[in-house]
Amino acid sequence: MKEVKCEHCGFWTNGEDANCHYCAQRLNNRDLTEQEQLEKEPLKGLPFIELKPDDPFIVKGFKHTLRFLQLIFTTLISMIGAMASSTVH
Ligand SMILES: [Zn+2]
Repeated sequence: MKEVKCEHCGFWTNGEDANCHYCAQRLNNRDLTEQEQLEKEPLKGLPFIELKPDDPFIVKGFKHTLRFLQLIFTTLISMIGAMASSTVH
């Protein structure tokens, strides 16, 4: 579990959540880090879902499933593209 210091009330709260546990204000740290990551990594085609080592088990499983679906989807799209181009020529 990642802890983040709430900038509104100063308590340490669960950084995985969008809002502070104590004052229920929005935790801006999370948004900032996500934005920074987006700026650092320009989009290369379909961006794969990032797996973080500090993710909870359920989130990891969920992300693995999403990644698997994304892989199937990307494969299907390229197959359809290949089929479409072979019929045209
Ligand atoms: Zn707070």
